[in-house]
Amino acid sequence: MFGTIPRVLWEKVAPPDEENRIQLRINPLLIRLGGKNVLVETGMWDRGGEKFEQMYALERDETFFRGLRDVGVEPDDIDLVINTHLHFDHCGRNTGLTGEPTFPNARYVVQKQEWHDALHTHERSRASYIADTFMPIHEAGLFDLVDGETELLPGLSVLPLPGHNLGQQGVVLRSGGQTLVYVADLVPTTAHAPYPYVMGYDLYPVTCLEQRKKYLPQWFGEGAVICTPHDPKVAFATLHETKRGFELKAAED
Ligand SMILES: [Zn+2]
Repeated sequence: MFGTIPRVLWEKVAPPDEENRIQLRINPLLIRLGGKNVLVETGMWDRGGEKFEQMYALERDETFFRGLRDVGVEPDDIDLVINTHLHFDHCGRNTGLTGEPTFPNARYVVQKQEWHDALHTHERSRASYIADTFMPIHEAGLFDLVDGETELLPGLSVLPLPGHNLGQQGVVLRSGGQTLVYVADLVPTTAHAPYPYVMGYDLYPVTCLEQRKKYLPQWFGEGAVICTPHDPKVAFATLHETKRGFELKAAED
């Protein structure tokens, strides 16, 4: 998860287990805006079987659907699903156990580039794409492919953030003078905020670095609240300047 950064440095912020695994979480985000329910990310694929579950030591506590229900939102109530990209740990519950769309009344938004790349994988990208999680959405005609920065609702936009792969997008919400950014795997956890902390998983690590240098100062300047997709503890963070660029600390409220 930390690419070329030596373990002696990263183990302080992300202590590994005996298999060298670290604690990560899947952090989908519900946005309620203008009477619409928008879901960013749909969580980890849950049909991989025992070997898959053991390899990643998955702990499933079912907070995904319960979290929605706690605020009175049923799967049928979701109007918009934003897939930051189509890796199985981000769009895993686009579909349900029998392959049906989990959110049948939603449009699913993904970048055109990402859709192309999901259909044209190579040896380095193939393991991340599981057709079960996106082909049924395509077949049901629920995908809206967007090309570049696009405003989906007033104040709510998607923004290309290449590096992890080519077609990844983040989500930017500007409302009431405040900015919230869902950064996707550009910065997978708060521990990844320093510029060189780029993942070994990234297909284009230098592009990832360039995108960080482009956007982190901008979001810092806006005082944006940052949501990372995999932080094990922190859901909402803010940027703070350091010698190496920035760090992310839990937001105050
Ligand atoms: Zn991820």
